[in-house]
Amino acid sequence: MNYTEFEIISQYFQRNQRKDHNEIQGIGDDSALIKIPEKKILAITTDTLVEGTHFLRNISAKDLAYKTVAVNLSDLAAMGANPKWTTLSITMPKSDSIWLEKFSISLFHVLKKFNIKLIGGDTNCGPLSITLSLYGLLEKNTALLRSNARVGDLVYVTGTLGDSAAGLFLLKKKIFIKDLNIKNYLIKKHLHPIPRVHEGRALRKIANSAIDISDGLISDLGHILKNSKCGANINLNTLPISKVLTDNFKNHYCLDWALSVGEDYELCFTIPPKNIQKLDLMIKKCLINCTCIGYITHFEKGLNLFFNKKKIIFKKKGFNHFN
Ligand code: ADP
Ligand code: MG
Repeated sequence: MNYTEFEIISQYFQRNQRKDHNEIQGIGDDSALIKIPEKKILAITTDTLVEGTHFLRNISAKDLAYKTVAVNLSDLAAMGANPKWTTLSITMPKSDSIWLEKFSISLFHVLKKFNIKLIGGDTNCGPLSITLSLYGLLEKNTALLRSNARVGDLVYVTGTLGDSAAGLFLLKKKIFIKDLNIKNYLIKKHLHPIPRVHEGRALRKIANSAIDISDGLISDLGHILKNSKCGANINLNTLPISKVLTDNFKNHYCLDWALSVGEDYELCFTIPPKNIQKLDLMIKKCLINCTCIGYITHFEKGLNLFFNKKKIIFKKKGFNHFN
């Protein structure tokens, strides 16, 4: 069946959603209208996913909807913001009702899980591309910035690094693994990254700086260092790499994937020594799962990587669209 743009919007994207007392106008007029509560700041982020660049051609509508929301949420998480609203610009080659049904059900499922309301968007015909913008709220002066790391801070990452890369290479048939459970685990880590929204919220009070790892640890930690005018010493022996990776792949692959491939959507953050006790308490209460991988140094020292106590040179820089 061939729908018009307006039928697509009303059929698939104008679904019943939660009531929101800050919303003056949602889908249906020329703009959405939102009232920002006093003492709050609006955090805004947007990400585009293009077929062939950000997802493989054969990705399911369900996985695509999930990932579009997850990668945006990861950016809000890295600021410590509380996600609230979203707009969706979707360009697709045809109005395929089965695809749209699956996409929109999955979209609303993940939006509901994080209590986010779809308040507008744009619908166009063309090569498949999806742009989602997310809007979140933050208490004034509590945002986790890239520019606030301080010499002496400890550097942490949440979760594990490198699984998503292995999942991507499995999907691209660049690597192979016999065990189906392991294969599915790694592919799931690639297609279903868990945005660390709760962790980001909890870290607001104790971390100095944070970033989410989308382009690889080296590249993303590099942004913190550049913006904060600092250096760092990182002990690669402490990198959190899953047992699934270390049991199945050679050490240098695991390290390479963890450092430079990206799409883990974990948080990298720095925390002053005075707040370590508070962080340990959060870890004990299972509010956050994270690992210390090094510490912040003076700018002149640059970024230094150590493996078995020896300094190593790592050439790859991380993902770059124009490279
Ligand atoms: P305009 O032409 O004024 O930009 P549109 O006809 O594109 O308006 O959209 C009509 C309404 O539907 C607007 O409120 C817009 O935000 C919303 N909308 C359009 N596409 C989507 C979508 N994919 N998801 C959610 N809302 C959408
Ligand atoms: Mg429009």
